[in-house]
Amino acid sequence: MTLVGMFQTYLTTYPWDLIDGDLGANLDRLQGEVGVTGVSVWMATPPVVEVRGREVEPRVFRTRGGLFFHPVEERYEATRCKPIVSTWAKPKDPLERIARACEERGLALRVMISTSQTSRLAERQPEMACKNLYGDSSRRSVCLSNADVQAYLDGLVRDLSSRGAVEGVTLADFVTAWGEALGGGLVSSGLMDDLQRVFLALCFCESCQQGASSAGVDVQSARRSAQVHLARCLEGSSQTDAAFDSVLANDEPLAAYQRWRERELSALSRKLANGCEVRVRVDRRVEGLLHLLPGQLEGGAEVSVISRIDRADQLPLVRSMHPECREIGISGPLVIGAQAPDLVSLFARVVELGFDGVEIDDYGLMSDSALTPIKQAIRYARRSVGV
Ligand SMILES: [Zn+2]
Repeated sequence: MTLVGMFQTYLTTYPWDLIDGDLGANLDRLQGEVGVTGVSVWMATPPVVEVRGREVEPRVFRTRGGLFFHPVEERYEATRCKPIVSTWAKPKDPLERIARACEERGLALRVMISTSQTSRLAERQPEMACKNLYGDSSRRSVCLSNADVQAYLDGLVRDLSSRGAVEGVTLADFVTAWGEALGGGLVSSGLMDDLQRVFLALCFCESCQQGASSAGVDVQSARRSAQVHLARCLEGSSQTDAAFDSVLANDEPLAAYQRWRERELSALSRKLANGCEVRVRVDRRVEGLLHLLPGQLEGGAEVSVISRIDRADQLPLVRSMHPECREIGISGPLVIGAQAPDLVSLFARVVELGFDGVEIDDYGLMSDSALTPIKQAIRYARRSVGV
């Protein structure tokens, strides 16, 4: 499916945004008019409330999240963490329909899964949930250090990658974090800035404590230290604009705990990709929690990392940090509502810096008019690389 030398453009989308209206017409339009070479479709998400960009019913789409395909149960026999299929997907098996329609058109299909922020799993199986430094179990996120969660993800990746039309699996939310620290809805004495969120997001569940302790990390010191830092933040007596990195530079137990975390996540990404029939990617975007992502995810040959930018000036930075990157993710705010000349010059920069593909967000949020600048930018990029 993937043509060497061709500029690849993927558009991310929730499955309902392709299926509602008319699946065939949506794909024809994206391929024929807009010029995308593939779609990246969410197949496992947290709860979503989406106000859609186009006139399609229902205009506001709600789901409690879960899987948007019918899992093969034998894939999950080795884990106590069992898949939860979304109520919306139960009667219709969206993946099967989308895969067939993409295959008929020669459109590439990738699937994206939220690996940790699957709140329904965390609610149902609190023993697999992240726990913050106060011992509170998350109702939103499961812990990627938990053996059952790891075996579940292994089943999930293999389940999805063994379906013929799927050419890649993207691991999103690939982070160990007490989920309530992300996003809104948190009430606390202080304004939650990034640094406070990072401390509150650190996971000290039993799996993390055991794993890090047996790797020689002084977990209790790391935890006490995190508690002291957060207490200072909440009292307002800390420099809350300090970067997490500079905190770690002066705090060896906490730094050791984070280094263990990076190794753990790197090993998990390799394990999930190992022997997989399709390309596995790790999406570096985690809403508001860039500090928690492993700085160096040593994936090895099997795993690629996709970085996402939400400002044009981040592009050269990503290029210099990840010279091996072939593709760049572009977040919705940079695309939706952009003027054609701005988007064309962004894509020109993408080509200049040696990327040969982009993945842009997000079909469901785009109005009809938002598609026109994208079409022009894709044309420009394709002409520039001579295809
Ligand atoms: Zn944990």
